[in-house]
This record gives sequence, C-alpha cells and structure tokens, in this order.
Amino acid sequence: MDILAVREIKKYFFAGTGLWGRPARAIKAVDGVSLTVRRGQTAGLVGESGCGKSTLGRTILRLFAPTAGRVLLGGEDITDYPPARLRPLRRKMQMIFQDPLAALNPRLTALAAVETPLRSYGQGKEERRRLAREMLRVVGLNASCEGKYPHEMSGGQRQRVVVARAMVLEPQFVVCDEPVSALDVSVRAQVLNLLRDMGERLGLSYLFISHDLSVVYYFCDWVYVMYLGKIVEEAAREEIFAHPAHPYTEALLSAVLLPDPGQKRVRIILQGDLPDPLNPPAGCRFYSRCPYAVPRCEEEPPLRELRPGHRAACWLH
Ligand code: SF4
Repeated sequence: MDILAVREIKKYFFAGTGLWGRPARAIKAVDGVSLTVRRGQTAGLVGESGCGKSTLGRTILRLFAPTAGRVLLGGEDITDYPPARLRPLRRKMQMIFQDPLAALNPRLTALAAVETPLRSYGQGKEERRRLAREMLRVVGLNASCEGKYPHEMSGGQRQRVVVARAMVLEPQFVVCDEPVSALDVSVRAQVLNLLRDMGERLGLSYLFISHDLSVVYYFCDWVYVMYLGKIVEEAAREEIFAHPAHPYTEALLSAVLLPDPGQKRVRIILQGDLPDPLNPPAGCRFYSRCPYAVPRCEEEPPLRELRPGHRAACWLH
C-alpha cells in the first residue's frame, strides 16, 4: 500500500503581465511529476539546486496549491481540500526544513517549540508538556536543553528540536528537505541515524529531498532523479546506483564516493549551469548539457520502463 501517490503534478509560477492582464510567462518549477512512496519506506528525490525538488515537496504537502495533477495521501485524494478539511490531515504529514535556525521561532525555547503543534491541536497544558519533554528525550536532548533558545543551541541540537517538533504529532508521512545540508559533517550522521530510528519506531514513510547522493544511498529505498521540473529516472536504490541509465544520473553518481572502493567510475563534469526554468531547452531538457546528445534529442523523450521498476527518459535507451 502506498502512503503517497502523486499523479502528473504541476506547479507553475507566473511572472509579468501580458495582454488583457494575463500572466506573461510561466516558470514551470514542477512540470508533470508522478511518484509514489510506499508505507514504511523512504523515497529519495535528488537533483541540483533549483531543479524544483523543494517546490515539489511543498506542493505535495499542499503548502503550495498545485497548478494541475492529483495528490493522494493514504489513498485519499487531498488535491482540492480546503484548509479546514486539510487541517486534521496535517497531523499526518509533516515537513523538516533545511535550515533549523530559520525554521525555529527565535522567541521560543526548545520545550515551547515542541509544545506548539500540540497546542494548536488543542492538547491540554500538562499533557502537552509531558509529551514535548518525552519527545525531546527521544531525539537525544536532555533537560538542560529545554529552556534554551535557538541561538543558544548548536546546529545539531536545533535540528533535533525541529525533528522533535515534527514527530510529536506522530505523523505518518514526512518530507525532509535537505535536513542535514546545513549541518557540520560531524553531526550529519547523528541526525540521519536519528531520522532512521524515528522512522522505524513510528513506522514512518519519508520523502527525502537531497542533492547529496551519498546521503541518499545511505537513507533511501527508492530514488527519483529530477532535472528542471521533471523526473528523468527512477529505480530502487541498488539498481540506480549500479546501473544508472540517464546521462544526468550518471554525471551525479560519478561525483560521489562509492560504497565499493574496488568499483571505478569516470568523473563526468557537467558543462554549464541548470538552464533558466523560464526558458527551458526544447525537446529533452538535458539537451544543452548532455555529452551524448543526438539530433533526435530535440524531441522530448518519454519516461519509459527499461527493466521492471527502472524507468528513464532518454533516447539512448
Ligand atoms: Fe542526452 Fe538525448 Fe538522452 Fe536527453 S535524450 S539525456 S539529450 S542523450
């Protein structure tokens, strides 16, 4: 059973004003993405900064209204739910943000921050204090941290508070948006282990957004590769790391340390930056940077199944 199913979701932002007051140009941040997250599993969403990963995460959680497509949570189509109907469901779906300092209210202590979501769901004072304390212990923060404000804590402690705040409502599905990229290398593994332990303890499913494939290898069961608003490849973790099919995935993988040091990969340096989403290349969106491009690539390749469960959008296959 899937906890999340996203079908052909689009999120466009409109810029400028054209004739008759209509928006002149659309930034197609997410342009027809379909993905699923199985119960109890972690799906990774990887790609460079600016490819639309975070926008997709926010659209799935309905923090942004989708331009088109459907979002199903536990089989329930929540795409058109008004805020009042979404509210009870928000307990089930939470988000952990990249920058814990920005995610926390500077005027709330660690304990108050974790109590806040419980208060907004009407939990009584005694009970919410007890639950918040318990959750702070679960994430590894002792009593001396309870009264600290965000600026008095280390980056790792702040991210633990953010994790506790998300988990205290006992969600079923959590979007983690680059949860360790703002942390020192020394505390990244601790926070990843914490997220993994919490996932097992609460039976959680994650959508794990990252540009770091070594983190995705460690954390995810399934991997989606996103480029300029579209999924260009998806497969189980072992399959995609052993047999990347899309040249973009190949380039991303060539830059990470491999778990098997005997395995050799040639480093592929991508030329140029991610194209402007206001003006994406016609045909294959990777065309302007692809070392294998052929004339046919001026036509957009569909996402096709190469082997069971392994799909890629590239004319080479
Ligand atoms: Fe490269 Fe062409 Fe494949 Fe696109 S379709 S990734 S341009 S080879």
